[in-house]
Amino acid sequence: MKKMLFVFNPRSGKGLIRTALLDIVDVFTRGGFEVVCYPTQKPRDGYRKILEDGSNFDVVVVSGGDGTMSEAVTALMQLPKMIPVGYIPTGSTNDFAASMRISTNMIDAAQDIVDGVYFEYDVGQFNRQRYFVYVAAFGIFTDVPYETPQDAKNIFGHAAYIAEGIKRFTSGSYKGMDITVEHDGIRESANFLLGIVSNSTSIGGMKVPMRDGVYFDDGLFEVTLVRTPATPIALQQTLNDALLNRLSTKNFLSFKSAKVKFTSPEPIAWTLDGEAGGAYTESLAVNCRRAIKLIIKPDDKTDQQREIDSLKPDYNEVSVADTDNKYLRTALFEDQKGIEI
Ligand SMILES: [Mg+2]
Repeated sequence: MKKMLFVFNPRSGKGLIRTALLDIVDVFTRGGFEVVCYPTQKPRDGYRKILEDGSNFDVVVVSGGDGTMSEAVTALMQLPKMIPVGYIPTGSTNDFAASMRISTNMIDAAQDIVDGVYFEYDVGQFNRQRYFVYVAAFGIFTDVPYETPQDAKNIFGHAAYIAEGIKRFTSGSYKGMDITVEHDGIRESANFLLGIVSNSTSIGGMKVPMRDGVYFDDGLFEVTLVRTPATPIALQQTLNDALLNRLSTKNFLSFKSAKVKFTSPEPIAWTLDGEAGGAYTESLAVNCRRAIKLIIKPDDKTDQQREIDSLKPDYNEVSVADTDNKYLRTALFEDQKGIEI
């Protein structure tokens, strides 16, 4: 029998796993695995367990929220050989699961792992010591996404997240950060309000439209930085651009890259996968291409790739003509009250 280490956070998602644990273990056992169960005892315990014992198993499966998956990947990245990892989501946001279309039904997710295939997923390395699975960000409070209406999340995704971040600065005084950004031989110094380095189709519970051309195994991050507007009107224009998914205007610095460096006179506070990531005057994000073997539902990748490939090439902007879309129309006009553009 193949040996499986099953690490789960018993408190994640209001202890959801308690009712399903027996069925999950049964699915794994029927699938030919000898299962060692490990309920995590405190934060970072899953990380420690996988780092210490992961190498003794054929497969590691983790269950919990995005934080649990992030811990697991950080540990797996430090093991001498690549151990395949499966994920059963139980957290509240589950960006990673949404990105990879992992079932939110725990028993189905377990069965998909038994029947699963490997997908080599890119992992972000941060300052050579930390890792992130889907997002590193600065200048945005971690609770921003939870206050965004679900409709907006589904329609605008990435841009909605950025828009919500920008809105935070409209109510009071806003102060940007002087940052030098370096990538692919390009160097630019400017003042930025916030920034996101991601490899995900879901951030903070919001769906990034497939038309953004996000690939999980292309070795590239999507990077977006918001330039600090000089006036309240300019701030409103930046917000409007974000609401229309126009992230290529002069108000943003947007690109794809495998490696990006940020330097600043003042330390920048980062969040990695939604958790505190420390503050640094120099930060380096490196995409470790296809660094983990994720176990996913058979054919899932094929479906996803087909969907991306079938999209029209006009993915750069949502046209203003798209205002027959109810939410877009509401968001646009609400946000443009009193503003002439
Ligand atoms: Mg990518």
